[in-house]
Amino acid sequence: MWKFILSGCLLAAAAVAQADSLYNIRTYEAPDHTRVVFDTSGPTDAHMFALNKPERLVVDLRNTRPAANFNPDFSNVTGRRVQNIRMAKRGHDYRVVLDLVKPLTRKDFRLKPTSPYGHRLVIDLFDQTAPAQPPPSRTEARRDIVIAIDAGHGGEDPGAIGPNKVAEKQVVLSMARKLAALFDSAPGYRVVMVRKGDYYIPLRQRTRIAHDAQAHLFLSLHADAFKNSTVNGASVYMLSERGADSEVARFLAQEANRSDLIGGVSEVSLGDKDPYLKQTLTDLAMEGKRRQSSEIGVEVLGELNRVTKLHKKQVGHAGFVVLKAPDIPSLLVETGFISNPVEARRLNQAEHQGKITRAIYNGVVKYWRENPPPGTALVGLAPADADHRRRLEQGLLAAINAASEASGLGP
Ligand SMILES: [Zn+2]
Repeated sequence: MWKFILSGCLLAAAAVAQADSLYNIRTYEAPDHTRVVFDTSGPTDAHMFALNKPERLVVDLRNTRPAANFNPDFSNVTGRRVQNIRMAKRGHDYRVVLDLVKPLTRKDFRLKPTSPYGHRLVIDLFDQTAPAQPPPSRTEARRDIVIAIDAGHGGEDPGAIGPNKVAEKQVVLSMARKLAALFDSAPGYRVVMVRKGDYYIPLRQRTRIAHDAQAHLFLSLHADAFKNSTVNGASVYMLSERGADSEVARFLAQEANRSDLIGGVSEVSLGDKDPYLKQTLTDLAMEGKRRQSSEIGVEVLGELNRVTKLHKKQVGHAGFVVLKAPDIPSLLVETGFISNPVEARRLNQAEHQGKITRAIYNGVVKYWRENPPPGTALVGLAPADADHRRRLEQGLLAAINAASEASGLGP
């Protein structure tokens, strides 16, 4: 007993002497949850509890002090879920109170150091009502060609950082929005944006979103860095189960696959348990998917070749996790190398982004025009597709009116 008390006192004394530091608190808002991240000097012990009237979450970081340069930026707090964050010393602890707008479901987990981050405590606060899913069986949803556009990285995962601190996650989100606008204005196409803002989505969940939307194509946009800053040009990759076909491809896939470590994924949501990913297709279906990926990739490369230098003239192969959807043709477009100073500047320019996205769009549209997927608006008229029929009738009507006017008969 005597020995126990002694060692207890020593432990307490040691703990006080080595208080953890709180370096930063960061927030990200996703459509269905808000993430709050605490950057700490060690695997900080935290005690959390919720209070209501008004709703709030109290986080006591045990034996923790804010670091000298602690200066959190809460500009991402939009007031949708968290309306205020308050902080105060409380004995040896540091108390952080999140003032919430409504009751939220909490999931918290710790992450071990992964460059560029040290120890992190992550709290995800989810809406309690399920987000509205687009009804998958709507006629229009089945009949349009659905393009899933995935802006790489996001939130805690900035992706590659170029000169002047240009972050890949911002460049590719901007391009994804431009690309979406092109497809959305094209009849017969519909876009599903995998990432809509500055937050992180686990790699497996990205393919899952595309699957749930019954996407015909998954396009992941990146602008990564390479060790050698002279390397430049755009490239297009498809999945290889047997390793990469070049040193650059291997490096890019390794970096891309680190995203879940940097972006922060709780073990619960690790997608290996996802039955969708265990789905096995027949060799014939797999071969069909691979051939489509390859053929669309060739069209996209051909169009990119008109507007930018190509890093590779052929579709590259590497083990990108985000391309592992079993049933959807999937491509990863490296729009350029952000590690190359000249290319980084161009990638950040709206005009260049417009050229790149227009090229990707042209390549995809060219492919589907020549190979329309069965049952889509591009194939032809199906009696059930009222919307398509309406559009065609309007077109016919306009043509008849124009012909009548030309012949002087009136409408
Ligand atoms: Zn990337």
